[in-house]
Amino acid sequence: MHILVSNDDGYRAPGLVALAAALRTLGQVTVVAPEANRSGASNALTLDRPLRISPMGNDVYAVDGTPADCVFLALTEVLVERPALVVSGINAGENLGDDVIYSGTVAAAMEGSLMGVPALALSFASLDPRDFAPAAELALALVRRCLARPLPRATLLNVNIPEGSQHALTQARVTRLGRRRREAVAIRQQDPRGRPVYWIGPPGGPGDDAGAGTDFHAIAEGVVSITPLQTDLSAFGHIDELVNWLGH
Ligand code: MN
Repeated sequence: MHILVSNDDGYRAPGLVALAAALRTLGQVTVVAPEANRSGASNALTLDRPLRISPMGNDVYAVDGTPADCVFLALTEVLVERPALVVSGINAGENLGDDVIYSGTVAAAMEGSLMGVPALALSFASLDPRDFAPAAELALALVRRCLARPLPRATLLNVNIPEGSQHALTQARVTRLGRRRREAVAIRQQDPRGRPVYWIGPPGGPGDDAGAGTDFHAIAEGVVSITPLQTDLSAFGHIDELVNWLGH
């Protein structure tokens, strides 16, 4: 039994180290992760230059690319056998609602899913994550469950783990994605030569759609949130409307 671990915070990130250590109690774990922090990289693939895979020892490989590059190369080049699961994380910080569009943590899992392997994205919903041990324990319980009751092919789960004590899998809640407030802040500063530079500002907090049933609500209540995701972005509910709009 083989598990592929990746992330977007980089191969040395404490959340990934804690996750890989916990999963090694279950079987063989190979880590293929970015050599630097690529949070916010989404599903980007690097197409304008070649990629290098650096073996770091102990079945850990660092790639000078994005999370999606890492999982693509892991499944096509690094691993000889197909892994049972792709597990991405544990991200330092939540990935709720709109975040999943931008998240490199979710993207690493999504790349696994797109390549036909069930995948989990794990995020620790803490503003100042230090101790990943409780989150890693929850991850271990979840992966154990996935191995005992295999997920359908290409299933993708987005898991957010709150700070605090309610980490039991039995108390985890199945949720849907909520929505953030769009604050759309660009922070303007000056470089040393007086020219303007801009930082993309932090995301907004929970928006209008953060009530019962959403991932935001579960985390606000201190409960583990598990959201099943799909990669097909088709708005099925609007297909008939669009056919009418075209006058067919
Ligand atoms: Mn990250």
